[in-house]
This record gives sequence, C-alpha cells and structure tokens, in this order.
Amino acid sequence: MRISTITNWAYGITVVLTALSGTAFIMSSSAAIDERAAVEEHLVLDSLAEELALGAEVRTDEARLYVMRGEERNLQAFHAEEKSERRREAAALKLVSQGLKPAEAEALEKIDKVVEELAKIETAAVETFRNGDRGDAQRLVFGPDHARLHETLLAEISHFRDLIAARTQAQLEASRSRSDLWSFLAKIMLAVTAALFLAVLYFVLRRRVTMPLMRMVGVVGRLARQDYTVEIPVDRRRDEIGDMNDAIEIFRTNGIERERLDAERRADQDTKDLILQMMHRLQACQNQVELADVVARYAPQIFPGIAGGLYFLDEMRATLARAAAWLEPVDASETFPASACWGLRRVRPHASGSGESDVPCQHLHGGNAATLCVPLTAQGEMIGLLYLEGDGAEWSGVNRSRLYLELIAENVGLAIANLQLRDKLIALSVRDPLTGLFNRRFLDEILAQAAASNEMLACLMIDIDFFKRFNDEFGHDAGDVVMQYVGQVLRDTIEPDGRAFRFGGEEFTILLPGRTEDEAIAVAENVRQKVSSAALSHAGKMLGIVTVSLGVAGSPNEGSTGTLITRADAALLQAKAEGRNKTLASSRIAAA
Ligand code: GH3
Ligand code: MG
Ligand code: MG
Repeated sequence: MRISTITNWAYGITVVLTALSGTAFIMSSSAAIDERAAVEEHLVLDSLAEELALGAEVRTDEARLYVMRGEERNLQAFHAEEKSERRREAAALKLVSQGLKPAEAEALEKIDKVVEELAKIETAAVETFRNGDRGDAQRLVFGPDHARLHETLLAEISHFRDLIAARTQAQLEASRSRSDLWSFLAKIMLAVTAALFLAVLYFVLRRRVTMPLMRMVGVVGRLARQDYTVEIPVDRRRDEIGDMNDAIEIFRTNGIERERLDAERRADQDTKDLILQMMHRLQACQNQVELADVVARYAPQIFPGIAGGLYFLDEMRATLARAAAWLEPVDASETFPASACWGLRRVRPHASGSGESDVPCQHLHGGNAATLCVPLTAQGEMIGLLYLEGDGAEWSGVNRSRLYLELIAENVGLAIANLQLRDKLIALSVRDPLTGLFNRRFLDEILAQAAASNEMLACLMIDIDFFKRFNDEFGHDAGDVVMQYVGQVLRDTIEPDGRAFRFGGEEFTILLPGRTEDEAIAVAENVRQKVSSAALSHAGKMLGIVTVSLGVAGSPNEGSTGTLITRADAALLQAKAEGRNKTLASSRIAAA
C-alpha cells in the first residue's frame, strides 16, 4: 500500500475517532446535565410536598386558633391559607399531568385528598364556631378524625418524598453510570487515536521511510561515485519508496549501459588507433618480411586472443605460403594451393569451422576453432590471404569488426602490392634482363660505395672467348643462350659471397667483398673450369664447349678501388693475348 494511502487512511480514522471521542465527551456531560435536572426536579417535588404539609399545618393552626380565640385575624389567615392550598393543589395537579410516575401521582392525589378532607373538617369547624357552637367547633379540629387525617397526611407526604427520593436516586445513578460509560468510551477512543497515531508514525516514518531511505543513501552515494557494482535491495512494495527504488535501479541500469557504451567506444577508438598505427608502419616497410612482421605484431593487438597468419601468393599465383603467424594458429596449413581456399576462389571473406554452417576450406585441418579467410587483393589482383582462427567471446569481437577487417585487408593488400611493384622496379633498374645478373649501372654504384669505404674488395673481369662465333654460326638466340649459361654459372659459383654483373656485351664482372686477389684467383679458376665443364646445345644443335678468359685484381692492398676494373680488365686482355680460357691476376702482370 502506498504511504500516501496509509497516511490518508490514518488521517481519516484519526478524525473519525476524534469526532467520536468528542461526541462521547458531549454525551458524558449531557448525562451530568440530566443528573442536575433530576436533582432540580427532586427539589421542586420535595418542596411541593413540604409546602403541602406546611400549608396544611398552618391552615390547621389558624383554624384551631380561630375556634379557640374567635379572632377575625385567624379566620382571615385561615381563608388565605385555603387559597394558597388551592394554588398548591393546582401545581400538584400540573405536576401529575407532566408525567409523574403512577405511584408518585397516586401518593400526590392521596395527599391532595387528605388535605381536602382536613380542609373540609376545618371549614366545618369554622362554620360551627360562627354559628356559635364553640365546643363542637373545637371538637372537630381537635378531635380524633382530624388527628387521624393529619397523621395520614404526614405519612402520605413522607411516602411521597420517599418515592421522589428513590426516583431521584435511581435517575442520579442512571445518569452517573451513563456519564461514566460515555466518559470511558471517550477515553478509549482517545487512547486508540493516540495509539493509531503512534503506530502510523512508527510504521510509516521508521519502517516505511527512514529505514529504506538510510539504505538508499548508501546506494545513491556509491552510484554518485560511479560504483555501479552496488546491489540495489529488492523492494517489491508499491509505494513511494518502491517508486524511488525503481528509479534508482533505472539510474543504475542506465549508468551500467552508459559505461558499457563508453568502454565499447574506447575499445573501438583503441582499435582504430591500432589500425592507423599499423597502416603508417605498413607504408614505411622496405620489404615483404618487414610487412609480415608488422602485421604479426599488430593483428593480435587489434583482435586480442585471435590467432592467425599472413600468406603471400607466389609469382605463379598458384601457391600460398605463410609469411607470418601470431598466437600459434593450428588449423591451417603453412602452404597450400590457392584453389584450396573458398575465400580466394570467391574473392570475399569466407567464415567456416566451429559455429559456422558454411563449407570449410580444404587448407583447414578441421579443428574446433572458427576460422575466417580474408583474401588480399590490389587493383583486382589476388595477392595473398589474411587468415584468422579463434573461439568464444574473442571470436564474436572479430565478427563485430568485419568492417575493420576489410579495411585492414585492403590496406595490407595495397601495401604488399606496392612492395611487389617496388621490387619489380628495383629489379628492372639494377638487373640485366637477358642474364638476370646485376647491370653496369648498379656495378658503378657499388664500386663508388666501395671506394668510399675503402674496404677489401676483389674484382674478376670475364670475357667469353670467341663469342662472335656463336652468333655467327648459330644465330643471336644461340648467342643469348650462351650468355645466359655463363651468367647462371657465375651466379651459382659466387653467390652469396659475391655479386655478378653484366659489364656489357659478352663481358661480366664479379665483385668479391673481403677477398684478397689470391683468393679471387681461386674463385676465378673455379668459374673458368665450371663454364667449360659442359657442352651446350640449342635448338637441337650442338654449340660446343664455352670458355672464358678472366682478369683478377684486388684492392686496397694491390691498388686503389678506383682502378680495380681497369687493372682486372688489363689482366683479362693479357689472358686473351696469352691464348684465352685462362685466368691472370693484375699484380702478376705488373710484376712480370
Ligand atoms: P674474343 O675471344 O676476342 O673476345 O672474341 P669475341 O668474338 O668474343 O669478341 P668480339 O668483341 O669480337 O665479339 C663480341 C660480340 O658479342 C659482338 C656482338 O655482336 C656480340 N654481342 C654483344 N652483345 C650481345 C648480345 O646481347 N647478344 C648476342 N647474341 N650477341 C652480343
Ligand atoms: Mg668482348
Ligand atoms: Mg669475347
């Protein structure tokens, strides 16, 4: 029940009880008035009886005195008293008609009757006396009849007074007990009113208001400090405090929701920041290894708890190889054909595995995790794959961040494409397209750097012997094949310790950092022997054995780096001059 309803009811009941109590007090005092009226009535009747007795007495005395003395004065007093007697009788009759009790009325009538009889005797005595018969007159007023009637009168008056006294006593007692009853009822109602007031005060103020309010003060204080873990006591009462409780609960729920939204917004902002940071680093990557490292570092921060891998598609666009992995993905192969991935086939993100109803990719091992393959493309071309696997709450985070995922995939794809393009351009600028060796421009760059550093460097100048013959006899294509063969032998022999360059025409240069001229001679000899170790054929025709002549020079011990090529070339010329298919060192020519 609502507090206002309780207080309204209590107010109503208190008003009614107070009114009843007031009425009871009024009734109590009206009983006292009745009591007074009864006393007053008693006095009137009593004095009437007294007057009747006294009047009769005085009249008798006057009659007796008259018949004894014969004085006129007594006779007049006798008649005057007779008149008074008539008045008293009239008053007594009026009282009888006003509702005396039958016994009282009867007693009063008897008195009246006796008074009448006495009056008759006395009047007869007065008449007798006036007729001159004094003795008879005196016998009449002093005789036994008169005495008996007088006694009867006194007895009747006494009886009447007793009756009145008894009635008055009964009325007084009735009034008193009525007054006591009303007074008692009034007190009871006052006590009930007071008890009700105190009970309502205790119940409403203490139990229904103060105690819940004290509990709420603590709750509201914690809510104000944004402590939403506070438990709001369950209050099923449908009153104002219950309403307040509900309002606080709504406030708390709103606060929790606001905090959740804030946390989501902050997490979203953190994710955006991480994606932005990753994009900046992707653009600064020098090669694909760096790029894979950046993705492997940032992906687990952007998608916490989610394992994954970055795959690059090979140049033939047939096979994917994993370039980086994070948080140990277990469900996907390290390399697999592009056709094994539904994501790559459909060129859109493909979710499969646990919790997904879609067909699983063939490169997956069928583990318990949910998986997502996001193809990486650039300008409509497939470049690689971003693979993710996970489960639980973390995985639902991935599903919520599909837009971010596509943004990441797009940027990683573009970054890979940029790096691949850059690699191609670099290769085009430093490589010789026919042999795949570095070109002369790159050689000049390396030599300039070496000259600046003055570190130990050996150089081999190589020239194919009688090359013109291959062109002339078998055509330029055959000449190109010979050139490519020699280039391949050079690469196989000196990489990764040295670099091979096409110097121009059918001449090549090899640079061996950190090698002396003597060590370089051994390498040169090795090259020379390998080139001539097999006979070549082209288009079904035998081209024969290819030989090369080599000149070797070293720096800085044997001469400056700036003259390295010149010195090696001089040695080469000397080797040519000495019959070809030969290695000569620059320092030995100089010594000779
Ligand atoms: P030597 O033993 O004295 O070096 O004789 P050689 O025939 O090798 O030397 P020469 O300088 O007379 O001939 C070099 C020839 O190489 C001339 C040119 O036509 C040919 N040549 C240069 N560049 C290429 C090329 O890219 N492809 C082909 N097929 N031939 C080339
Ligand atoms: Mg030549
Ligand atoms: Mg030649």
